Amino acid sequence: MARLAQTAGLTDIQQEILSTVRDFVDKEIIPVATELEHRDEYPQQIVDGLKELGLFGLMIPEEYGGLGESLLTYALCVEEIARGWMSVSGIINTHFIVAYMLKQHGTQEQKDHFLPRMAAGDIRGAFSMSEPGLGSDVSAITSKAVKDGDEYVLNGQKMWLTNGGTSSLVAVLVRSDEGHPEGTAPHKSMTTFLVEKEPGFGEVRPGLTIPGKIEKMGYKGVDTTELIMDGLRIPADRVLGGVTGRGFYHMMDGVEVGRVNVAARGCGVAQRAFELGVQYAQQRHTFGKPIAQHQAIQFKLAEMATKVEAAHAMMVNAARKKDSGERNDLEAGMAKYLASEYCKEVVEDAFRIHGGYGFSKEYEIERLYREAPMLLIGEGTAEIQKMIIGRRLLEEYRFQG
Ligand SMILES: Cc1cc2nc3c(=O)[nH]c(=O)nc-3n(C[C@H](O)[C@H](O)[C@H](O)COP(=O)(O)OP(=O)(O)OC[C@H]3O[C@@H](n4cnc5c(N)ncnc54)[C@H](O)[C@@H]3O)c2cc1C
Repeated sequence: MARLAQTAGLTDIQQEILSTVRDFVDKEIIPVATELEHRDEYPQQIVDGLKELGLFGLMIPEEYGGLGESLLTYALCVEEIARGWMSVSGIINTHFIVAYMLKQHGTQEQKDHFLPRMAAGDIRGAFSMSEPGLGSDVSAITSKAVKDGDEYVLNGQKMWLTNGGTSSLVAVLVRSDEGHPEGTAPHKSMTTFLVEKEPGFGEVRPGLTIPGKIEKMGYKGVDTTELIMDGLRIPADRVLGGVTGRGFYHMMDGVEVGRVNVAARGCGVAQRAFELGVQYAQQRHTFGKPIAQHQAIQFKLAEMATKVEAAHAMMVNAARKKDSGERNDLEAGMAKYLASEYCKEVVEDAFRIHGGYGFSKEYEIERLYREAPMLLIGEGTAEIQKMIIGRRLLEEYRFQG
């Protein structure tokens, strides 16, 4: 399977990291993924292995004990991991976003306090913007923080926290009216709080409850939860960056790198679907020959492989743009949009190639079929990506008449 999704110009170190991760995926993830997913079981052994490989600190600077690698290296690792099991990439994704936000926007004390233990995987991150009443429209957040002496008191309900139960640090976006009078634009009156908590469910800190896992159609194994704040007291020094009113920008910066990451997941899942489809097509016979010899099936394989290649190229381009220090919202939006749509299509084609067996839980494609739709929604839906892309295009191609 070495032919597709190659990346030119990687350093020796990048190649070594990728080959180690690929090996880990083939030996430790693929053989157990479907069984664990069907049982909705948290893959503790796999997570321990990733910890040992240093993957939780891949992009955290070396001075904090991480590997100090680029977004590209990170995205390529995520692609490999998602090829094995998308849920595992979800376990590191929110951790990575929180570590990235701390690295970019945290105070020195916050970086010193959190990053070394995040690099070791001992503290694991989740991030929380969505609420029961909103996902795309972040400006409508109603959870609130009110200052009380040296602390803030947080109230409100959050929804859809990936790793909500297993994490011990949650970056929570709430409205903070302190210093921001009534009528301030919504995105200027939000603050990200760094909320430390015990992993687990129930009241994990006074005033903070993680009720339990949300039952999902796919993307199982990784926990997705609500979060309820009822008089939760957070010290002022746990405001990300030390200044209120900047939270919206912090989160948008985080999801921008997160989008490259979701694109990488789409690439990984699509690659696996292609691998399964092309293998099955050579084993299954109809009308006296392998179905791969029917032109209709070959055309499907050709379309699938072309989509795998195109999505990979766009994802790599978006990651490289960010690594070069340039703004990449256009490229990240395009990559996320294309990779998630193509992933859904490639998975569906692989499913069709499997005929009736694709519907059986014995075949891996059944799991991929339930996983792919999540990528259409997470880190901004297709419609939201197209809004971002469209706005940026009109900036770039402003009519000069
Ligand atoms: C498994 C899972 C894990 C998640 N993990 C996290 C997490 O860790 N942290 C977190 O904060 N959130 C998380 N989310 C939430 C996710 O980010 C939101 O579900 C997503 O942003 C969409 O929001 P919504 O579900 O409220 O849909 P809505 O915003 O209600 O949108 C509904 C539909 O309307 C469309 N729409 C909305 N606005 C417009 C518009 N202006 N123009 C055209 N169409 C529009 C949308 O594209 C969509 O099709 C997770 C979600 C899932 C399913």
